[in-house]
Amino acid sequence: MSKTHNLDGRTCLITGASSGIGAHLAQAMAKAGARVTLGARRTELTEQIASSIREAGGEALAVPMDVTSEASVAEAFERAEQALGPVDTVVANAGVSRYGRSTDLAEADLRQVYDTNLLGVHLTANAAARMMMAAGSRKSGRGRIVIIGSITAQLTGQGDAAYAASKAGVDHLGRQLAREWVRQGINVNVVQPGYIRTELVGDWFDSEGGKAQINSWHRRRIMGIDALDDMVLYFCSDAAGHVTGSTITVDDGQSL
Ligand code: NDP
Repeated sequence: MSKTHNLDGRTCLITGASSGIGAHLAQAMAKAGARVTLGARRTELTEQIASSIREAGGEALAVPMDVTSEASVAEAFERAEQALGPVDTVVANAGVSRYGRSTDLAEADLRQVYDTNLLGVHLTANAAARMMMAAGSRKSGRGRIVIIGSITAQLTGQGDAAYAASKAGVDHLGRQLAREWVRQGINVNVVQPGYIRTELVGDWFDSEGGKAQINSWHRRRIMGIDALDDMVLYFCSDAAGHVTGSTITVDDGQSL
């Protein structure tokens, strides 16, 4: 296996691992050799995925985790450490969207988006950094945090102001945290995906509007669930030792 895809010896935690991109990445990371903790609120789903990883010979644990709660995040990291060892690699992937005109969205919807997509990433990264530093990341240089942002951070669109603003927020948060922890041996990078068919986008791409959207992209196709694997595994690997504070777009040219 190439060094860029080798996660042997790494202890990873991924948030939002009960469905979509997170569920897929958890399996890809386990295949790459990592011990993986899957965090999400729906533990009946993460438990199934963890058990399929274990059946395939990997090491995986499902933990309840609500990224909007610091206590829940701390408990998830503690459980991960007790079962699999100190976490040295984190993918902050949990996210939600609420579409609608800004003036139509209820305060509760706006809070859900910002609390999950922005505060949730910050709380996850903080817990990760504390554990990494305590385990000696400054000396080992092995700390890795990958934030899943979105190309909406660079675009303007109808109906996703809060989502796009939260994703623009985590893009800069990633750079800030990279700066804050650069001497602590922790690398923080952001991946900004284009559209991928998951629960988050629902069946919108089967509607007339969705089909028209796909046809407006240069390659006239939506990306598959494995589109982010290479970039996320690279950022998590030893090969990315000199890469921190960067943002990379993986969108099949959708935003061009
Ligand atoms: P899904 O809806 O399939 O997955 C979202 C995940 O986030 C679920 O596992 C959900 O788990 C978890 N989640 C939501 N709220 C919380 C919470 N409070 N605490 C813990 N976990 C939570 O969507 P995707 O797989 O598409 O999205 C994954 C990431 O990718 C998101 O950050 C999204 O913004 C981003 N993204 C997706 C794109 C796409 O086109 N699909 C494009 C660009 C970015 P549970 O409900 O069990 O807690």
